[in-house]
Parts: sequence; structure tokens; C-alpha cells
Amino acid sequence: MAETDPISIAGTPGTNRTLMKKKILGVLYKNGPGSITDISKLFRLSIPTTASIINELTNDGWVGQTGMGNSAGGRPPVLYGLQPHAKYIVGIDVSRRHSRLAVFTLANSPVGNIVEIPVGLENSDNTTQILTDHVSKLLKSNDIPQSKLLGYGIAMPGLHDVRKGINYSYQLPGNTSVATLFSETLEGHVCIENDTKSMALGEAWFGRAKGIKDALCLNIGTGIGMGIIIDGKIFRGQSGFSGEFGHIQLVTDGKLCYCGKTGCLETVASGAEIVRKAKKSIAGGMTSLISDFVSDTSAIDLKTIIQAASEGDIFSIQLLEDTSEHLARGLAMVIHLLNPQMIIIGGSLSAAGPLISEPIRHKLTKYTIGQILQDVSIQISDLGRDAILLGTIPYVLSNYFELQSDNY
Ligand SMILES: [Zn+2]
Repeated sequence: MAETDPISIAGTPGTNRTLMKKKILGVLYKNGPGSITDISKLFRLSIPTTASIINELTNDGWVGQTGMGNSAGGRPPVLYGLQPHAKYIVGIDVSRRHSRLAVFTLANSPVGNIVEIPVGLENSDNTTQILTDHVSKLLKSNDIPQSKLLGYGIAMPGLHDVRKGINYSYQLPGNTSVATLFSETLEGHVCIENDTKSMALGEAWFGRAKGIKDALCLNIGTGIGMGIIIDGKIFRGQSGFSGEFGHIQLVTDGKLCYCGKTGCLETVASGAEIVRKAKKSIAGGMTSLISDFVSDTSAIDLKTIIQAASEGDIFSIQLLEDTSEHLARGLAMVIHLLNPQMIIIGGSLSAAGPLISEPIRHKLTKYTIGQILQDVSIQISDLGRDAILLGTIPYVLSNYFELQSDNY
């Protein structure tokens, strides 16, 4: 085959060859193992050039033989794939009051346990240092040297401008951005992403949205976010602020939201609002199974409400029904605009399963044109909160391998 490589790789051992290596690694990460012929065709490289690059990547420990492919008549080809333990990625999911972190292999598997820490963005002044200490401990306990880390993927809530590395919702004293602080504290490449977009990436690569071109991933916890996947890619918008679903106005002259506007969806349908309503009603004498699960009203959280609902508690079921009404009205607007194939319910409210997805589906029939709704599948995430942590892996690797035509 003639050399048709558009970036003139042969005989140029510098940047172009490094770039091509990264691209090949990226494809092996995304598509799984391939033969030298497959790779040469994909990148329009000659067989000898491809073989030489694969050889170098093998010697460097990135790539190894993983088995034999299907024969096209002759000898079956040798398949080459990423060595899972060649490098590692640290994923960190920082929320308002707690954090989760894990080290992942290039095969997206956690090494050791996922660490959960009751420290987040709003209950400590020292979150970055505490997280850094936990990362060091985790690496040490798994015998992973710093040199084997490709980078850190950090998912956090708030309005995060990926271009500037600024999270407008969590500004630090002295105008230091959270990204800068993490970059200074953690050694290595740090990628910061909004938690809901990270969740959508997790769903697109490993969850319900895998192979789905147009999907909406709802992150309903304390607040309400939406990860929008259009044509297989995360839709970010001009500044990366897309998907602020919780702040569309649903109630005229409604309550003041923490965003500064009034009547936002979050003020009537978020996890925080469900808990607030439950506390108020139960303190006012409402009879509910919830009271059996907690020592006093202040201990009520979304988990106890969902538990009571799943055990048939009418009051809790009604709370979820009321929430579904608001969510359905908001979702109907987005469905009419985007005609999605799937809506995935994630975040802590997803633990309610059909107790939330069924009323949403039912109420959507009131607000959505039938022909548009008939193709929308409403699903509960099967990854749960792990979707956020898992989404940090393709985010870091897409950056590192410079993948361009993927979900990133
Ligand atoms: Zn708001």
C-alpha cells in the first residue's frame, strides 16, 4: 500500500509521530483491540509504518497482544490492545457535602475500592488538601507511582467554564479558581468537568446512553441538572453552561431560588425541596412511615422518603407524584425542542426507580405531543452515582489521546 498518511508520519520522528501514537492509543481505548491491518486502514498508514509504531508502543508498555482476530481467508491476524495497567487515571466526584474518588485502569476498572469522604465543597475550607491526601494514600496502598498517572478527572457541581477553568459557583478567595487550586495541590494534568456532564459522559460510554445518539441525562439530587447528548456528543453550549434545567422558570411569582431568579424548577422539584416538604408536613403532624425511620424530623433525607414510598407510604408516594408533575412539565419543553430518543433519570432521586419514572411518563402524556413522545424511552440509570466518577475517565483520556469524533 502506498504511503498516504496525511500527516507525513514516515521519517518524521518528532511531534507528528507522537501525535499519531496518541491517536492510535485513543482508538484502541475507544474501540478495543485491533489488528495492524485495521489500524493502518483507519489512519491511512502503510503496514510497515503501523507495525513499527505498534512495536514502539509495545516496547513502551502501552500495548500488548490480546488474541487473534477473525481470519479473512488466511492466517488470523494478531490483535493489539491497550495494556490496562500501563497508566492510571484518578477520578474524583466532589459534591457539596461529600466526595468519592477512585483510581482507574485504562480498561475503566477501579483499582481497589471507591473511597467515600464526608467532605465536599460546602462543609470544609480544606477540601482540596484533604482530597489530595486521600489520593496519595490510595495510590500508595495500590503501589501506583505518580509517574504512572495520566491525569485527574474532577467532576463538581456549578457553572463551570471549561475554557477558562473557572467554576463561577465555587469561587475561592483571591480569585483563585478551583481548577488552579487542584492543579497546584495535585501533581499532574487536571481536567475539571461539571458533574452532570460527567454523568452524561458516564452514561454515554458505559451506561444506558451507550450507542444512543440523542439522549437527556437528568441529575436529580440536591439540585436538578441535565446532560444533553446530541448526535452522540455532549452538547456544551458557548461557555459550557448548557443543561441548567433546574433554573428554567416553572412557577410564575414563585419562590426565590439560590440562583437569584424566582420560580425555578429546582424550587419545586429538587431532592432538597422534597425533603423540605416532608419535614414541614411531618413536623405539622402528618402521619407517615417516614417517622418510623428517623429519630427526629431533622434526620429526614431523600433516602428515607424513597424507602417509605417503596414500602407503600401514601404521603411519600404523593411527594414523588407532585415532583413528577413539575419535572414532566419541564421535560415536555425540552422534548418538544430536541426530540430525544431516551431520557435517563440519574442522581439520588433515581433510587426511587419506577416510583418516579412511571409518574413522569404518565404525566408527559398530558404535556407532550403524542408523535414526539412515542419514541422517547424513559429509563432509570443503572450506574447510579458511579456514572459521574466513570465519566471522568473518558474525559481525561479523550483529552490525553486527543480523540475528536467521540462522545467527549
Ligand atoms: Zn434558579
